[in-house]
Amino acid sequence: MSMENTTSNFIRNIVAEDLQTGKHNEIITRFPPEPNGYLHVGHAKSIVLNFGLADEFKGKTNLRFDDTNPVKEDTEYVESIKEDVKWLGFDWDNLYFASDYFDEMYDRAVLLIKKGKAYVCDLTAEQIKEYRGTLTVPGTQSPYSERSVEENLDLFERMKKGEFKDGEKVLRAKIDMASSNINMRDPIIYRIAHATHHNTGDKWCIYPMYDFAHPLEDAIEGITHSICTLEFEAHRPLYDWFVRECEMAYIPRQIEFARLNMTNTVMSKRKLKLLVDEAIVDGWDDPRMPTIAGLRRRGYTPEAIRNFCREIGVAKGDSTVDSQMLDFFLREDLQPKAVLAMAVLKPLKLVITNYPEDQTEMVEVENNANNEEAGTRLVPFSRELYIEQEDFMEEPVKKYFRLFPGNEVRLKGAYFVKCTDVVKDENGNVTEVHCTYDPETKSGSGFTGRKVKATIHWVDAQTASPAEFRLFEPLILDDAPENEGKHFLEQINPHSLEVLDGYIENAAFKDAMPLDKFQLVRNGFFTVDSKYTTSEKLVFNRIVSLKSSFKL
Ligand code: ATP
Ligand code: MG
Repeated sequence: MSMENTTSNFIRNIVAEDLQTGKHNEIITRFPPEPNGYLHVGHAKSIVLNFGLADEFKGKTNLRFDDTNPVKEDTEYVESIKEDVKWLGFDWDNLYFASDYFDEMYDRAVLLIKKGKAYVCDLTAEQIKEYRGTLTVPGTQSPYSERSVEENLDLFERMKKGEFKDGEKVLRAKIDMASSNINMRDPIIYRIAHATHHNTGDKWCIYPMYDFAHPLEDAIEGITHSICTLEFEAHRPLYDWFVRECEMAYIPRQIEFARLNMTNTVMSKRKLKLLVDEAIVDGWDDPRMPTIAGLRRRGYTPEAIRNFCREIGVAKGDSTVDSQMLDFFLREDLQPKAVLAMAVLKPLKLVITNYPEDQTEMVEVENNANNEEAGTRLVPFSRELYIEQEDFMEEPVKKYFRLFPGNEVRLKGAYFVKCTDVVKDENGNVTEVHCTYDPETKSGSGFTGRKVKATIHWVDAQTASPAEFRLFEPLILDDAPENEGKHFLEQINPHSLEVLDGYIENAAFKDAMPLDKFQLVRNGFFTVDSKYTTSEKLVFNRIVSLKSSFKL
């Protein structure tokens, strides 16, 4: 199922053809995030595509921060983005910032003015929108569009010098207010923002707009294939216009593909930031977040994310992927790697009344049910154990084969035990289950005398360590929240986090580090939480349950 690099798609075909025909000798792609938040799994799709193409065709990929909006951007985001790209397994050939090109962009804007292709406009944002028209109504010429070149040069320079307040003036491209493509109706190319920029500080108080900046950035870097998401398709004529009219030496090509949408997920930095700011999650790396940092802390692996991105492929049409598909690749990746251990998440004391009080024996348990080479380990077994509450029923329902008074089950890797009686508290809740064990039935002894219908896991009460287990459900309830017209904050799942105090066998984790992966028998795949684990307290995140009904 895993397919490194070989998945065919229309963009790959374009690249292959461009190399074959000699249009390019080498391809250069770029991943251009705006540092206004942490990366999410949607970005992973773009990363895998851009870096994957360069890897496959021996080209280059630039990591370029599209930092043209100082108000929303921050170096914290720059650092997290670098870390996430590396963690996903990719390395950039060059690291650039759009802000590195502010001088050149300014010069190109001046060039447009000199050519009579740009003008300073004093309309308010509101008016500009009104004048722009709609899909069916053509736009109206701005009263400022006939300003002379000299006046525009003077005003633009004074905008740069800080003589005007935010919103007082903008620089607009002069294209075609009657164009059927609204993007071509004299788009804004520079706006005033008296804000400190994370890179250029207070040097600038005018900033280029995305539609103007992006094609220039691509041209400056010699990007051969500028891959972006589908919503920019209608911006492509503008992209080409800026490259041409700004007289860029290199002509890059924009290619659009469908963005990744996933069920039960919001996929936008702006929305994810809201979840952080509203403290609905404990940070950008909350294990319920679809951010790369969140997935990492949750225990997802770069391999699983890469394989998922390759499998969903690259298409021209938008679609929504079932989030369980990612889990499929996750299980596939974790299965051979995770260390097997026993843990009890909702403990119930089990006492083996005929087992000697001062005795402990070691029973042998496999380390990885799917990998014999992982060997076995010895786990302590004694008179008092913990089992899962749900593995005992005082009055069993039909077809319940686990423990109930009079019934016998196997304790995994150890013996048959038979329930004799229970201890209850004053409210009638069972606090202890009493059993007897049969020494003849030890696992591996070849005992064939009789059979039991269930095997349950357990931990030794004396030696097990207390641990916290954090179980997750989707943070967003609806399957396609963004299409329902509801604000996504109304669709937060109030039960997305369950925190349990249980026990885990000692042997398995004594050397465990944050982010180590475990398969806890019957309970799922878990990782050691990197935020809450301390030397006093072990905290595990459930990465994913063991099975799913999802079929690829
Ligand atoms: P967001 O709304 O989350 O901020 P964005 O598209 O504005 O997303 P950028 O930081 O500008 O985010 O994006 C960097 C790159 O990642 C762009 O090339 C963009 O097309 C791509 N990208 C962003 N979201 C997705 C997605 N859901 N699927 C595929 N590619 C995406
Ligand atoms: Mg954005």
